[in-house]
Amino acid sequence: MNLIRVWVLAILTAAWSQARSDETDARLVIIIDDIGYNRILSERAARLPGAFTLSVLPFTPHGLATALLAHDQGKELMLHAPMSNINNLPLGPGGLYSRTNKDLFITTLRQDLNNLPFIKGVNNHMGSRLTQEIEPMNWVMEELQARGVYFVDSRTSAQTKAFEVAHEYHVPCLKRDVFLDDVQDTKAITQQLSRAIKIARQQGSAIAIGHPYPTTLAVLENIQPLLLQQQVSLVFASQLLPIQDLPLTKTANVSNNCAVIMIMLCFNAPPKTELVLANYMIQFNFLGIK
Ligand SMILES: [Zn+2]
Repeated sequence: MNLIRVWVLAILTAAWSQARSDETDARLVIIIDDIGYNRILSERAARLPGAFTLSVLPFTPHGLATALLAHDQGKELMLHAPMSNINNLPLGPGGLYSRTNKDLFITTLRQDLNNLPFIKGVNNHMGSRLTQEIEPMNWVMEELQARGVYFVDSRTSAQTKAFEVAHEYHVPCLKRDVFLDDVQDTKAITQQLSRAIKIARQQGSAIAIGHPYPTTLAVLENIQPLLLQQQVSLVFASQLLPIQDLPLTKTANVSNNCAVIMIMLCFNAPPKTELVLANYMIQFNFLGIK
């Protein structure tokens, strides 16, 4: 059986590579976070043209309505989990604080995750203190692993431990490359966008985070010609999750190898998914795996 598992994983990796090699464009993820407080700007973000990923703050006045609208508009949704920061700035509702006991911490995180529909991933709002602390990050990743939810480290601290803890818990994880709008003017945002595109073209992919500021939204509403010219595809965060980050421990532990297919479906497999899955089914039949 071990041989079969190894073989199935080899097929999965090969098929994934095939799907990747068929894509000629570099890939860019743009996450708009801090969604939920301002109705007009949150709605405007939900209506951005293309595969933008929206990260919504829990228990905000317009979070739920925006999440529903964004889902309707075909956007991917994340929870923007408020985490404690080194400046002790207030986190708002659903905040995850350092030195909270585990029960309260997990209860708060679960309430945050349950507050919004269609959540596929989580990134940290602030979090320059919490993401440096191993124990609370263990608790975060334990919960995300159980739910099959990915994590994007916003990297608000250079000492963040989030990425390595996520790996230990087999939580699919990505890191932010560029903040688009630390300076809120058109020229600065356009320059940051160009930086993200350059990274995507050099490394194959990049992750940028922006916010629902009028200037940022105005730039992003007109992004499509630039992406086309630069041959960069805008994709959802889940589409960048590396195969080795998928929860393979689950795969290795199950005797029913159809779990492999479930994993691909859960994590929004790359383009040509149907072909890839059809290929798996042929191979599974060959092996006598139902
Ligand atoms: Zn934020």
